[in-house]
Amino acid sequence: MEEKVLITDIQRFSVNDGPGFRTNVYLKGCMMRCHWCHNPETIDSHPELYWKRRLCVQCGVCLEACPRDAILPPIPPEETQQEECTYHKIVRDRCDLCMKCVDACLYDALEIVGKPMTVEQILDEVEEDRPFYDNSGGGMTLTGGEPTAHADFAGRLLEQAKTRGLHVCMDTNGCVDWEILKGLIEHVDIVLFDLKHIDPAEHKKRTGVTNELIIENLGLLSETGKDIWVRIPVVPGYNDSIEFHTSAADLLASMGKGIVRIDLLPFHNWCQDKYGWLGIDWPLQEIESMDPAFLEIPADIYRSKGFETTIGGSGFESGDEALSS
Ligand code: SF4
Ligand code: SF4
Repeated sequence: MEEKVLITDIQRFSVNDGPGFRTNVYLKGCMMRCHWCHNPETIDSHPELYWKRRLCVQCGVCLEACPRDAILPPIPPEETQQEECTYHKIVRDRCDLCMKCVDACLYDALEIVGKPMTVEQILDEVEEDRPFYDNSGGGMTLTGGEPTAHADFAGRLLEQAKTRGLHVCMDTNGCVDWEILKGLIEHVDIVLFDLKHIDPAEHKKRTGVTNELIIENLGLLSETGKDIWVRIPVVPGYNDSIEFHTSAADLLASMGKGIVRIDLLPFHNWCQDKYGWLGIDWPLQEIESMDPAFLEIPADIYRSKGFETTIGGSGFESGDEALSS
């Protein structure tokens, strides 16, 4: 039987993940645990249960449907210090993802995230957007999660995407054996390479892994002739200082000619709903979204080193006809 991997989303019309209009394929599973991750549903490689509290009317049907007593009833006001009932609660380590509650809920408040798909199923869906690629220079972007965490599957997907004539980008954190990365980029037009921090200890503090392998891979990649867009998620209090950007720009300028562009991605907190749906406490919940204008000075640092640099990573030039049409 043909192998399937879990996909959390096939997102159409993205304009921030490579040139033109992109169809982003999000693989589920990643070896890093970045505190600011905007797609927390892609971190764990297993299916998960979303509970969308604002859609829930507290009807209680799911409690009755659950065979494992994994959904606890709301606590009445007289048993708490609050004026209203608390919401019901999912005890996630009792849940075996049987989906009985999902099927029972009439309000779409419960959902399993992670859909198993084959290479062919993914590409057939991606190809529905082909007319939008032709005029915009767009195509498919394989992202996640982390594509290299599913190297064999990702390799077949990328190779067959090229066979079908698609423009292909791959977004990677670069934290993988060089031989695996080298094999995958053969089937990629542009590598979107994430750089979180250049100091190993700081990198480990907020991602769970050190960065020596990542920086070594970026150096090797930059010598291959493959186009690379380095993407730096800028997080307040972590990597937003002028000193950081000056050091990062120096490091990137010392590498090969493959690095053709830098995208500075301002931190935002629009993903906090997803953390709530998964029942995860988000450590950056209290941090406000960053004003993109704050990145103008850092962007000039990279530009002064000769790098085309964007704030936000748009795949269109301003005034581009495809964007304005
Ligand atoms: S069945 Fe749906 S709407 Fe009813 S309590 Fe459960 S999650 Fe909420
Ligand atoms: S998926 Fe199954 S086990 Fe998990 S909470 Fe729903 S009904 Fe219970």
